[in-house]
Amino acid sequence: MKKLEDFADDINKCSKCGLCQSVCPVYKITGNDCAVSRGKFVMLDGVLKGDLKLNKNIEKYLDMCLKCGKCKDFCPSNIDVCEIFNTAKYECAKNTFHGKVEKFLESKWVFGNVLKIFKFFVQCSAGFKPLTRDYVPPSPSRGEGIESFSSLQPCNSATVRLLYFQGCVNNVYPKTERAFKKICAHLDNVEIIERDFDCCGLPFLSSGNMERFEEVKKHNLQLIESCDFDYILTDCASCESTLKGYPSPGTTSHPLPQGARVETINAAEFLAGQDIKFEFKKPVKVTFHKPCHLANDDFLKPLLEKCENVEYVEMKDYDECCGFAGEFAIKNPKISRKISKQKALNAYETGADYILTTCPACVMGLHQGFLAAGKKAPKIMNIIEFLSLAEIEGK
Ligand code: SF4
Ligand code: SF4
Repeated sequence: MKKLEDFADDINKCSKCGLCQSVCPVYKITGNDCAVSRGKFVMLDGVLKGDLKLNKNIEKYLDMCLKCGKCKDFCPSNIDVCEIFNTAKYECAKNTFHGKVEKFLESKWVFGNVLKIFKFFVQCSAGFKPLTRDYVPPSPSRGEGIESFSSLQPCNSATVRLLYFQGCVNNVYPKTERAFKKICAHLDNVEIIERDFDCCGLPFLSSGNMERFEEVKKHNLQLIESCDFDYILTDCASCESTLKGYPSPGTTSHPLPQGARVETINAAEFLAGQDIKFEFKKPVKVTFHKPCHLANDDFLKPLLEKCENVEYVEMKDYDECCGFAGEFAIKNPKISRKISKQKALNAYETGADYILTTCPACVMGLHQGFLAAGKKAPKIMNIIEFLSLAEIEGK
């Protein structure tokens, strides 16, 4: 496990140019230099030099970060801010009372059982039947292979084997997962493999609970290594970015099953590469919010081109953060609501019937924004759920 001192060189790379201020959503709202990476690096530099202590005040500013990575993308010194802040947060919290309480709440027993209880109540109230594992969609044996799209390379076999990483929200309320399966039932070359994955670990990483993150990562990697599949598929941008940060399976410490290739793709990217059509009975207007953790949205245009009767309107700042970011919204509710409100107003101005995205936390952020803006929200959902509402014709 890395220590803050391991990042001394990176922290020193910060030239204090202040360019990060122009992209940081938290700085834009607060105008506080301690909220943006430059200010945090000044504090952490002081800690490393022994001039400051990692105390509650510094922790407060470390928590004042969406981990959106906008500053990293813009930083001329290309400093990986999130890893540094997560490590600093780990060192802040490890010996404190509240750090121990957070660890207890995030422990496998508490976190796992809370999710199970949520799942029970949510699925009872929604009338869901329990999900089955190892789902294989009907296969009427039409066509051969798949149409490849961007990073999706043609597979060795005619059938594409997708290892579905559900993520916590889908585990509790599997709306998107069901929608994806509904769509895949119209494709004859897809096999969905499911395993009992744990959380991807992002919430633990963000709260500095590195031990718990290592625990879930180990569990998930063991399951990944025990499966034969072509792609790990997820419908959540946050899970996707976290899985892509796991150590690469296939190295000596993480051997792969023979012949398996590992690439994590999101469900929308996968569908954009398929020979499939989505016909909506009535014309609908949609807009799209790009989650901060979504590496690229190249799939959006080809996917919408497969839809009939769908008009796309880009919202202003469509890739700006929704302001939610899990723990951030709990610890900084006022700032979170202000950022969400601006996002909601940008979406509202498009007049769209549907706001689409690829992250369940962003769905919550958008709802929070509409509430804060006092506007009636249009339908907000994962793009996969939206597509499943259409008449589907696939091969
Ligand atoms: S953009 Fe990078 S180098 Fe410039 S102040 Fe921000 S963190 Fe430092
Ligand atoms: S990760 Fe996002 S919220 Fe955090 S300092 Fe960088 S731009 Fe600001």
